[in-house]
Amino acid sequence: MLDRPGCPSADLTKYSLRAVPRYTSYPTAPHFHDGIDGAAYAAWLSALDASEPVSLYLHVPYCRQACWYCGCNMKLAARYEPIADYAETLRAEIRLLAQHLPQRMTLSHLAWGGGTPTALSPDDLAETMNLVHALFDVRPQAELAIESDPRTLTHEMITRIGALGFTRASFGIQEFDPQVQAAINRIQPPDMVASAVNGLRGAGVPAMNFDLIYGLPHQSVDTLLSTVETCLDLAPDRFALFGYAHVPWMAKRQRMIPEDALPGLKARQAQASAAAAALRAAGYDQIGMDHFAKPTDPLAQAAREGALHRNFQGYTTDTAKTLLGVGASSIGRTPTGHIQNITETGAWSRAVAGGHLPIARGVALSPEDVLRGHVIEQLMCCGEVDLDGVAEAFSAPNWYGDDLPDLAPLIQDGLLEMEGSKLRLTPIGKPLVRVVAAIFDTYLETGKARHSVAV
Ligand code: SF4
Repeated sequence: MLDRPGCPSADLTKYSLRAVPRYTSYPTAPHFHDGIDGAAYAAWLSALDASEPVSLYLHVPYCRQACWYCGCNMKLAARYEPIADYAETLRAEIRLLAQHLPQRMTLSHLAWGGGTPTALSPDDLAETMNLVHALFDVRPQAELAIESDPRTLTHEMITRIGALGFTRASFGIQEFDPQVQAAINRIQPPDMVASAVNGLRGAGVPAMNFDLIYGLPHQSVDTLLSTVETCLDLAPDRFALFGYAHVPWMAKRQRMIPEDALPGLKARQAQASAAAAALRAAGYDQIGMDHFAKPTDPLAQAAREGALHRNFQGYTTDTAKTLLGVGASSIGRTPTGHIQNITETGAWSRAVAGGHLPIARGVALSPEDVLRGHVIEQLMCCGEVDLDGVAEAFSAPNWYGDDLPDLAPLIQDGLLEMEGSKLRLTPIGKPLVRVVAAIFDTYLETGKARHSVAV
């Protein structure tokens, strides 16, 4: 990230500080609107190609304790009753969705996220998974993934996750340094994480993902490298390395973060660069802008084969065109458009109880949205795109003429190379891929959303 072989004199700070989306969809979520409701979504679902598989995302917004860096939609739950009610509604929403599908469909990928999905009781998790199997043909090789919190993962839950056939578990490690953990209100020593990981492996869950964060309060290159070293002893299959996005005007909990202890831009870049180098040196392939995977992991294989995709959860091997989002605030997509569920759990629950698809907003895709979304996904996943090739594939000659003047400074500053109509990110451009992708985002100028900085 810090070496600039192509353009030693360019000042890239202006790009690093640019507030741009993470492009887990196009158009991005801030451009969804309330003109899309449950009736529109019902029509989109009934029009799905029944021969194509779908994937499922199940959201559990509850946590036992708040992490101060968290920007997720989460609720604190000291008692189990609200979580039990939530699980009941989650199952009702799955039944409702299934009724709107053209027929019983094949499921290729399932992911539980949150919040903390393991805040559910083992029985509620099993009952929900059994319902999914009752309503969908779950492919034998389907990926079944679940986010887990080592601080609250019980032996009983570990055993049940294994028995239910989950194939991948994710852990938010973030950083092991005790001072950093205290500042972010997430105390989880390495022994606690090792016990959860080894327990799940022993229960039959074959693959593990670890998330790390740089740019946290009191964090340094040394603390992060020490964290990476400790993680490597546990040999996870994938790492995600995210920059902490300090947006207290949006994520109120972040007001608890001591701002004077946050590393500056150069320190953030040094941390990201050092951690990425350590992971590469340990034999992990770098995938896209922020993922690392063992060369044998399906994500690395997909990247090598040009088959990597991006959805609301980040980089994925999931090829399904339809992602059914279930749970309060869940985001989903169909070939016709993107949708988001009602965020407030009470309103979401009442909509489901009333037999309505609990949609708050969404966006129907125009042909140009689909084309530009494809270009942005190519850049984010492969680091290159052939603009004329896209024009031919989408029967849209000269579609990018207006974008060329905006690309010129990025080429001049060494972020991009252009050969004919082929755009390719340079090594210094790769960490700034979001800035390049934003050139093709026609919604960005008009949006009121505030995004995190590019690095
Ligand atoms: S980071 Fe995860 S565990 Fe922590 S509060 Fe947010 S959703 Fe809950």
